[in-house]
This record gives sequence, structure tokens and C-alpha cells, in this order.
Amino acid sequence: MILDANDLPDGTPQEADLCIVGAGAVGIAMALDLLDSGLRVLLLESGGVAPEAGSQALYAGTVADPALHSPLDTYRERRFGGSTTLWGGRSMPFDPIDFEARDYIAHSGWPIAFADLAPYYPRANRIAEAGAYAYRADQAFTRPLAPMIEGFASADLSTDTLERFSCPTDFGRRYRHKLEAAPDFRLLLHANVTGIALAADGGSVDHLQVATLAGRRFPVRARHVVLAAGGLENARLLLASRDVHPAGVGNGEDLVGRYYMCHMAGTIGALRFTRPVWHGYDIADDGTYCRRRIALIPEAQRRLRVGNVIARLHHPRIIDPAHRNGVLSMLYLARMFIPYEYAKRLDGEVRLDLPTQARHLWNVLADMPGTAAFMWHLLRDRRLAERKFPSIIIRSKANLYSLDVHGEQEPNPDSRLTLCGDIDALGMPRLKADWRHTRQDIASIAAMLEVLARDVAASGVGTFTYDPDSVAHEMTRYGAYGGHHIGTTRMAASPRQGVVDAQCTVHGLANLHLAGSSVFPTSGQANPTLTAVALGLRLADHLKTLAARPPVSVSTS
Ligand SMILES: Cc1cc2nc3c(=O)[nH]c(=O)nc-3n(C[C@H](O)[C@H](O)[C@H](O)COP(=O)(O)OP(=O)(O)OC[C@H]3O[C@@H](n4cnc5c(N)ncnc54)[C@H](O)[C@@H]3O)c2cc1C
Repeated sequence: MILDANDLPDGTPQEADLCIVGAGAVGIAMALDLLDSGLRVLLLESGGVAPEAGSQALYAGTVADPALHSPLDTYRERRFGGSTTLWGGRSMPFDPIDFEARDYIAHSGWPIAFADLAPYYPRANRIAEAGAYAYRADQAFTRPLAPMIEGFASADLSTDTLERFSCPTDFGRRYRHKLEAAPDFRLLLHANVTGIALAADGGSVDHLQVATLAGRRFPVRARHVVLAAGGLENARLLLASRDVHPAGVGNGEDLVGRYYMCHMAGTIGALRFTRPVWHGYDIADDGTYCRRRIALIPEAQRRLRVGNVIARLHHPRIIDPAHRNGVLSMLYLARMFIPYEYAKRLDGEVRLDLPTQARHLWNVLADMPGTAAFMWHLLRDRRLAERKFPSIIIRSKANLYSLDVHGEQEPNPDSRLTLCGDIDALGMPRLKADWRHTRQDIASIAAMLEVLARDVAASGVGTFTYDPDSVAHEMTRYGAYGGHHIGTTRMAASPRQGVVDAQCTVHGLANLHLAGSSVFPTSGQANPTLTAVALGLRLADHLKTLAARPPVSVSTS
């Protein structure tokens, strides 16, 4: 059943066995998994089914350095479906090495191993509609594929791992009807959790405080509560709930909001090949778009003492008309029609004066047939298709590419979220994000680039040239990689090192659980959603087991 919190009587408590806060990727996946559990599940969602400025404004906050972090009400959507209403759908699991404690990556190591999460990935993959759970080209394709880079050989780099693409599935739109029809399940729209009220002894959640922007307020009581409000908002809810513990819920060790990671990302250098390369999508038998990338293998990471880094062959920088490509220039000229999150990388240091604009226009006119064909491809395969062509792929006649790099961030306690002085329309303190990167973050990428340049040359397939002194600049040119909000309520076996335990339960609070990328202790190289959903499904399994036990004491007054 789907209800609007504004239609409920003011002040009337709502009750459930399990309450999940946030109907984004993780909250919806968990709800789907619990539909046949026999538990009365209540899913609280701040937004409605369509975007609403009032709800979105609740996400606003401040950033320490606007050059390093986007505004907090961008790169996330506060509505049913959460940020899957905007995401790109790039999916891949974490690698086993990401879970290991590595002495060269400070604060690394999960209290669980890849094997603990492995059983949940295939179902996460199905819910995300990312096709078969096969993330190596040799497993995913029965037909032989042409090599990504013909003749390229490397002992340290693999070109066989895949990223797969979801439709990209908007979880709200896709699963709404299933949720609507389910018995024992309620989704409350426009229901904002504004605080977690603990029992007087501080040892369990008593109730959640819920408010609507239209002025309704009521408590929600449940045997178990899961916060699945996103990587930033999970931390905000804990920090802002200060009735019993002045530092916030689960924050006895001052860890909530710390270790904030996104990913390091940027485009660098020039790869010129003398042999055929394939940098586009390979389409799996089930129609899923897949793409191979260049990945630093675990053995090389250990030997070089660096983090996990991957790279893709990419088109030249769009804003510089020197590429003389009509399609790229057309994208540049149309940038005001592209959402902020996808247009951000079209801003830059090239002067956007009239002559530059004219050169872009000239590129479009000079390449009219190519540009027109591309427009048709864009309309048919990206706008109209249910499973969308994931990104712009430009064949280079000169066999010349730049390198698009995506790298792990080292957990850093000084990279953090705190509450700032402002409050939102519901009286909740807003967040301040002070995102930082470390020397190791840059060193990991620098090492990967060095290996690539060496092995491209040694294989005799071309050259990779780049300025080693520009790595830090290029990897921070657009600041923190938007949309990946990781580590702010990290998982650790000990309460001194983490906010949640290996089951995602807040240390010392048996009926409060956290779901989403906020619990990842490290970021890996992978985009986070598949792992966040897999962890959520693991938590759902755990909650089914807990529900079979006698209830923890929750007051009903
Ligand atoms: C432009 C963009 C592209 C992306 N591309 C990719 C990609 O290719 N691959 C990938 O893996 N990831 C990608 N992501 C990230 C991906 O969208 C997130 O990882 C994913 O949506 C996180 O799921 P979640 O359920 O944890 O949070 P969300 O999807 O953010 O959902 C949180 C939900 O909680 C609700 N909520 C928040 N606060 C409250 C409250 N106080 N009370 C009640 N409800 C509340 C919100 O309204 C929202 O519905 C992208 C993100 C963006 C912005």
C-alpha cells in the first residue's frame, strides 16, 4: 500500500515490525526482499513520486571548498526512487582485495570478506537490472570478443574485467506497482524522519520523529529501524539526534561523519595506438551493455603498495574545440540542456569566449553528416530505448584517446561531514561537507599511469603520454566524484573503530541498523550502488532472523 503522510491524522503514532527510512536503491531493494517475510514493514520516504523543490531543498547544506565538492542538493535526489532517478547505472561488485586490511592504505579492512557478500550480489544485480552476474569478459560472453587493445600485453594490468549497465533502472518507477500491491507493507510518501528518539537509557531506539512539509508530525514505533537515507543523510540523522547523547546517536567515539570518501576521477594524457582498439560497449546476449576497462590487478596493487584503480579509453576533452569533432562540439553547445550532474565536466579552464564558441559551431557544421547520424543514435538508443545506450562513445579516426581514470580513496578521518549552524524547513540542522583527498590517493593513480605508459610502449602498440606533474591537478579538476557518498558511518568489528558492526547494526543499539554506502569502510574503485544493495539484502536476511527472536524492549507509551 502507498499512502501520503499528509493524509494521516496529526500526532497519531504509526507502528510496524520494521521501519526503513528512505526509498532509494537500498530501501526499495530491502523492502522487496522483506515482502514475503511476514513482517509488517513501513517504508518512510521524504519525497513524492515526482521531483518537488521543497523536498529537494531539505538536502541543501554547505561545503568547505566549492572547488572540491558540489553543492549538497546536487548529485542526489530526495524523492521516491532516490538518486536512481538520476543515476548512470554503471554496476560492478567490489573486488576481494577491497575488503582486506592493507598496511599501505590507512584504516583499510572490512570486518567481512568478499565471500560474505558474494551470495547477495546476483540478486542485487537482478534488482538493478544489470543482466547476468558475470563481470569478466571471458565469463560473460560465449562468442569470442576482439581484444580491447590488439597486441597489448601486461603482467600488471587486465583488460578483461567488465562494468555492466543497468537500464538505468529508476527503482521507484520500476518497483512501485509491486510495492503498491503487497500486503503487510506500507510506503509513506512525504514522511521526513527528523530525529531518532532513544529510550531513556540510550540503549535502543524508542521511536522516530516524522514530519511533513505541510505541518503534520507523528512518531513511528518499530521493533527494528533501518536508516537507508543515502551516504550523507544517514550520518546527518545520527548527528542531529542529540536528545540522549549530546554528540548524536552512535557517535560515542566521534566517528559519525568522518572518513568521507567519494572517488578520485579525471581525464588525463594522450593514448595513440598503432593497432586496432575497441573502447565501446559489448552487448551481452540479454541486451545488457557491458564495457571493458583497464584495471590494475590485485597482485600489482600489493607489490606497488597502491589502491585500486581502473581506467577507460575516452574521447578528448569536450570543451576544447581543437578536437575538431562535430559530435563533441554539439554536446558542448547543448550543455545548458544537460542536467548539472552530467554537464559539470563541460565547464573548465578553456576560455568560453565568442571565438571558442564559433570554433565549436564550425566543428558541428563541418561534420554535419556525422553529427546528424549521432543525433539519431542519441534519440533512438538513449532517449527512446528502455535500456539506454550508457554514454557517448566517439570512434577516433586517428586512433587517439584520452584516459578516463577512476580510483580508490584512502579513508581519512579528517575528510568529514559535520552539522553546520543552519537549519532546514523542518528544523533539522544542515550538513557541512569537508571532503579531502590524501597523497596516497594521487600516488595510486600516478603508479597506474606509469605502468600503463611502460606496458603500452613495451607491447609496441602505441604510446601513452601525460605530464606526471599534472596528475593531482587533473584528478581534482572537478573535485570529488559526485554521487558516490561513502564511509560516513563505517563498519568495524570494534565500536572504537566504526559506527556499525559486521551486520550493519549500530554498536550498542541492537534495534538500529544502517544500510547504504555510508557503511563501507573503504571505497574500492567500483561504483557503489550494487554493493550497497547487496549489503542491504544481507541486512534484510539478518533482520528476518532477528524477527524470529523475542522483541527488544520498546516502550509503547
Ligand atoms: C548523477 C549520478 C550518477 C550516478 N551514477 C551511478 C552509477 O553509474 N553507478 C552507481 O553505482 N552509482 C551511481 N550513482 C550513485 C547512486 O545513485 C547511489 O549510490 C544510490 O542511489 C544510493 O542508494 P541509496 O538508497 O543508499 O540512497 P538514495 O538513492 O539517495 O536514496 C535515499 C532515499 O532516502 C530518502 N531520504 C533522505 N532523507 C530522508 C529522511 N530524513 N526521511 C525520509 N526519507 C529520507 C531520499 O528521499 C531518497 O529517496 C550516481 C548518482 C548520481 C547523482
